[in-house]
Amino acid sequence: MLRVGLTGGIGSGKSTVARRLVARGAVLVDSDVLAREVVAAGTDGLAEIVAAFGEEVLGPDGGLDRPALASVVFGDADARARLNAIVHPRVRAASDALIAAAPADAVVVQDVPLLVEGGMAPFFPLVVVVHTEAEERVRRLVEQRGMPEADARSRIAAQVDDDARRAAADVWLDNSGAPDALEAVVDALWDERLVPFEANLRRGEAVRTTEAVLVDPDPDWPAHAARLAARVSAAAGGREVAHTGSTAVPGLPAKDVIDLQLAVGSLDEVAGFRGALEAVGFPWRPEVDHDNPKSPGAAWPKLYHGTADPGRRTHLHIREIGSPGWRYALLFRDWLRADREAREEYLAVKRRAASESGGDGPRYADLKEPWFDGAADRAEAWAVSSGWVPSLA
Ligand code: ADP
Repeated sequence: MLRVGLTGGIGSGKSTVARRLVARGAVLVDSDVLAREVVAAGTDGLAEIVAAFGEEVLGPDGGLDRPALASVVFGDADARARLNAIVHPRVRAASDALIAAAPADAVVVQDVPLLVEGGMAPFFPLVVVVHTEAEERVRRLVEQRGMPEADARSRIAAQVDDDARRAAADVWLDNSGAPDALEAVVDALWDERLVPFEANLRRGEAVRTTEAVLVDPDPDWPAHAARLAARVSAAAGGREVAHTGSTAVPGLPAKDVIDLQLAVGSLDEVAGFRGALEAVGFPWRPEVDHDNPKSPGAAWPKLYHGTADPGRRTHLHIREIGSPGWRYALLFRDWLRADREAREEYLAVKRRAASESGGDGPRYADLKEPWFDGAADRAEAWAVSSGWVPSLA
């Protein structure tokens, strides 16, 4: 099973995307629908609301009078918090029940309008954000949903901005164009990413791409790393996760791989959260646990997790705080960040290795290796001269 968090601003096209995913076979868990169901007439949710806010929030039919409730909680943060404390746990329980009832190989799409606002993004293996410019959203809400323009604008203003959503997005679906264009993008997402991701997760398998192709530095790499690090950290009980490797060095062409280093006090701790890491998309690959035996990290213990997501190459290295391997990953990154000459030299080594290996990953790694012997000494010398000490993140 793969759980996908689907979000986006009001009027962005979430429901449209959800419908298409359901047509392709997804199981939909719609938070808005559940939020209505858990306070429907006759539910204990509604009884609690009446107990908290009085009979005046009931309509003549005995159901919830939404406008009346809205006017009670409007502008009253405490009242809103009390309402949320009634509704949110029930929505979560109802979602959990639907997820538990879904088939083992389901792609479960959870439509959660306030996913980013609620800080829920790190708890999904994949977050899909539907994006449409605010002015276009207003136009669609007014013209197609008949919403008064002022309502559309005030609802948009009450939600997080696009930057916050972008930071949480594993997949950014631009819905500025025609509906047909969106459908084609959603179909490709389903076929090329969601279906294989689900299969990998279910089997506990990581994507195995060893191809070594250097690409130009992507200015979004740090943002990708931050998003993935938040996910890993949440699964690992809040432990520190650092972005390491070449994609952590601004301006350096690299393989399009995000390296993350999760810092633990002892590798023995990992057994306590391994299941959680795997559940959010990072299966353990015990066969590559050791650091590359030819590298200065030979025999330095680590645990290695790959990713089940075919859309984002990620390596997760788990190392003990204070261990030589942990320190070296941070030192090497910081030295390359600080020393332009070293960076250029390393790039030349990488380019040569990429071309001589013909893109074969293991061969590429072997070809780069000799350079590290001297480089490690220079990085250490730099640490001494600059007073570098490793910091966690
Ligand atoms: P959300 O669920 O994010 O609030 P909807 O999926 O309901 O958004 O979309 C808002 C409105 O815009 C709906 O009436 C929908 O039919 C319409 N819509 C969605 N995508 C497009 C598009 N690409 N072009 C024009 N209208 C669209």
